[in-house]
Amino acid sequence: MIKAVVGANWGDEGKGKITDMLAEHSDVVIRFQGGANAGHTIVNPYGKFALHTLPSGVFYDHTTSIIGNGVALDVQALMRELKAIQDQKVPAPHLMVSNRAQIVMSYHKLLDAYEEERLAGASYGSTKSGIAPFYSDKFAKIGFQVSELFDEDTLKAKVKKICLMKNVLMEHLYHKPRLKEEDVLAELEEYREALRPYVADTSAFLNQCLKEGKTILLEGQLGTLKDPDHGIYPMVTSSSTLAGYGAIGAGVPPYEIKQIITVCKAYSSAVGAGEFVSEIFGEEADELRRRGGDGGEYGATTGRPRRMGWFDVVASKYGCRLQGATDVAFTVLDVLGYLDEIPVCTGYEMPDGTVTTDFPVTVDLAKCKPVLEVLPGWKCDIRGIRSYEELPENCRKYVEFIEERIGYPITMVSNGPKREDIIYRESPLKES
Ligand code: GDP
Repeated sequence: MIKAVVGANWGDEGKGKITDMLAEHSDVVIRFQGGANAGHTIVNPYGKFALHTLPSGVFYDHTTSIIGNGVALDVQALMRELKAIQDQKVPAPHLMVSNRAQIVMSYHKLLDAYEEERLAGASYGSTKSGIAPFYSDKFAKIGFQVSELFDEDTLKAKVKKICLMKNVLMEHLYHKPRLKEEDVLAELEEYREALRPYVADTSAFLNQCLKEGKTILLEGQLGTLKDPDHGIYPMVTSSSTLAGYGAIGAGVPPYEIKQIITVCKAYSSAVGAGEFVSEIFGEEADELRRRGGDGGEYGATTGRPRRMGWFDVVASKYGCRLQGATDVAFTVLDVLGYLDEIPVCTGYEMPDGTVTTDFPVTVDLAKCKPVLEVLPGWKCDIRGIRSYEELPENCRKYVEFIEERIGYPITMVSNGPKREDIIYRESPLKES
């Protein structure tokens, strides 16, 4: 069976920790979308790791880790990460790279950076990892598929064609040095050799695993609100962040995805630009940022301070719906233990004064104001607690209030960054 671990919000919900935890009982963990533009932070007996490309199952000897066809494969980042985990004494992972994955080229990163520079103040806050130029090229049918690396003639012809097109942009839009065919070819040859040991028909492998009754975990990157169709377009990422896309980005039948664990954070945070109705500022935001996550809310890839906000019922309810959540994993709840009172955004006030709990399209979002309800805090450290009943009453009330408002079952509560910091819970919303 297949389980998906995906984000309900803007990303950084703690998917890496939940995946790492569930990987213990999984045979395969596969990344199905996105690239090295976001990171998962994982704390386990080997140490603390920021993974950008490798699936979060790499720490177990019994799991196969797969980079699926839907991923924006940054070979340099992949090799760096493989080295970094082995430097920290993690055994070499069983890694497979889909022969249908496409490759992020160094000119994608350049184009990303040049475009951000050109847009200056109006930029998207891109991590300059080349993701948008990469996916644009994939769908314009001028990307490099891993399988093509092994066909010299295809490669040469394609490099020629691509350089011609890219150099128009390089020269006339960005006023930057032209690409040289021989450099692009050399880069591709380097990637071919680096990838050679890992390339496989991963969709066929997964199909076989399903036949053998194995457990497969799909690991999503970012969250619903960054989805190009259903998120806060255009301040989104360039590949679908939804569990449904797992079928495509991994090459598996959609009906095999039986469990969709949607990770939802106990407060809000976002990186990059874009609408964020429940955002808070000043000292209130600084304190939550300092105390948030595991050692502060700063981007795992960029180190950028994350934007902070209160839990947003409207965005999270929508986020869970689009994911098709069968289970909600409610994370970083321990962080809120310092607050006397905890505001929750329970609705959006529209310009005409009406209040909605349905997430609007981006043009309307900008006009919404948060409607806040305040819940009492629990004023203590809940880390180390392992059963739901042992949580302070106000803490349980917070969880239950949010569950009732979002309408999806919170079956896991995460109260710390470690694998074992998890509380399983019976939810009244879960059909047995
Ligand atoms: P991801 O991209 O969704 O995997 O999220 P990130 O790894 O970027 O951010 C989550 C951060 O919160 C990481 O630093 C995790 O170690 C940390 N984290 C995850 N779950 C918990 C939790 O329940 N409590 C605390 N305090 N930190 C957590």
